[in-house]
Amino acid sequence: MPQPITFEDASLQVPDEPIIPYIEGDGIGPEVWAATRQVVDATLRATYRGRRAIHWTEALAGQRAHDETGSWLPDETLETLESHLVAIKGPLTTPVAGGIRSLNVQLRRELDLYANVRPVRWFPGLPSPLRHPELVSAVIFRENTEDVYAGLEVAADSPQARALRPLLKQACGWDLTDDTGIGLKPISRTASKRLVRAAMRYAIDRQRQRVTLVHKGNIMKHTEGAFRDWGYEVVRDEFADHAVLFDDCAGDPGARILVQDRIADAMFQDILLHPERHQVIATTNLNGDYLSDALAAQIGGIGVSPGANLNDERGRALYEAVHGTAPDIAGRDLANPTAMLFSAEMLLRRIGWTEAADHIETAVETTIATGTVTADLAPRVDIARPVGTREFTDAVLAHIA
Ligand code: ATP
Repeated sequence: MPQPITFEDASLQVPDEPIIPYIEGDGIGPEVWAATRQVVDATLRATYRGRRAIHWTEALAGQRAHDETGSWLPDETLETLESHLVAIKGPLTTPVAGGIRSLNVQLRRELDLYANVRPVRWFPGLPSPLRHPELVSAVIFRENTEDVYAGLEVAADSPQARALRPLLKQACGWDLTDDTGIGLKPISRTASKRLVRAAMRYAIDRQRQRVTLVHKGNIMKHTEGAFRDWGYEVVRDEFADHAVLFDDCAGDPGARILVQDRIADAMFQDILLHPERHQVIATTNLNGDYLSDALAAQIGGIGVSPGANLNDERGRALYEAVHGTAPDIAGRDLANPTAMLFSAEMLLRRIGWTEAADHIETAVETTIATGTVTADLAPRVDIARPVGTREFTDAVLAHIA
C-alpha cells in the first residue's frame, strides 16, 4: 500500500511503496524528468520484481503552477514537500516580475534545507580538462542559508544605507563613503556546526577517509575563520571516535577520517593539482557556489551534475539537477538527462535502495562510456553523432533490463 516516508528516531522509515512528490520543472524540466521517471521505474521493476515501487505524486511549482493556480510556489506544494520528506524536482524558472528572487532559494528557505550537496565524480567517457580525471571523486556540502547570499544588502543611495553608515561609524568606527552599498555576511555557530555535522555523518556513512573544511579565514576571521573553528569543534566534540584533525595526529589518522582545512584560494589549486586529497568538502555558501561549478567543469559540466538539498535534523531532502531550465534547448529533444538521473540515484541511496541506485549508476556510466552521448558532451569527447534525450534514455533503459 502506498505510504509516505516518515522520520523516527533520527532515521528515515521507508515503506516498500513510498509516495514521493516530484516537481516536473520548467524549460528542459519535463524532458529530463520524463526520462528519469521512466528509468527509475524500470530499474525498480528489474531490481525488486514488484516488491518495491515508488508512487510518484506531482507537486506544482514554476511556470505551470503560475498558469494553473496563479502562484509560482503554491502553499499546497510546500505542504506536500514538508509532509513527504523526500522529493525530487526539475529546474525552475525565476519569475521576472513580482519581486520573487528565485523559487529555488525560496524552496530551500521555506523547508530549511540547509545543506546543498553535490557529488562530483569522473567516469570513462566524460570530457575533462585534467590529465588524471579519475582522481576526482568529491562531495561538496555547501551551507545553504547564510553568508553573502542571505539577501541582506542595501543600495548605496538607499535610505537604509544612509541610516546605516553613521551607525556603523559610531559602533565600529567604520568610515564608509556616501556612495557605498552595504551587504552583510552572517555566519552563525548553529548553521556552521549543523553543516559540518551533516558532512561528517555523510563521510562516516559512505566510508570516506577525508573531510576538508574550506574557508577564507585568514582574511575574514570572524565569519570564515569562525566557520573553520566551529567545524573543528564539532569534529572534536561529537566525532572523536570516528575522526581526527590533521594537527592532532601529525597527518597520520590511522583508521579514522582525516579532517583538514584549506584556505579557499589554495583549494582551487588543490582540486586541479591534487584532487585525490579531497573527498568530502564542507564550506560556506559563496565558496561552495564557486567550488561546485569549478569541480563540475572537471568532470563534464552541469549536464551531468546532480545535487540535493538536505535538512538532516528533520530528515528532509530535495533532489535536483544542478543545471537550470536551459530555455535555449527546451522542447527540442537535446537535453542531457544525466544530471537528473543521478539526482534520482542519490534519492534512492538516501532511502536505502542501494541496489537500484547502483543499477542506475552503472547503466548511465555504461551508456556514456560506450559513446552514446547528448550534444552537450559530444564535441568534447569527439563523438560525431550525438543522440537526443529520448535515444539516450532508450540506451540507458537497454542497460537496465
Ligand atoms: P536558468 O535561467 O534556468 O538558470 P540558463 O540557460 O541560464 O537557465 P542553464 O540551464 O544552467 O542556465 O544552462 C546553461 C547552458 O548549459 C545552456 O546553454 C544550456 O543549453 C546548457 N545546458 C544546461 N543543462 C543542460 C542539459 N541538461 N543538457 C544539455 N545542455 C544543458
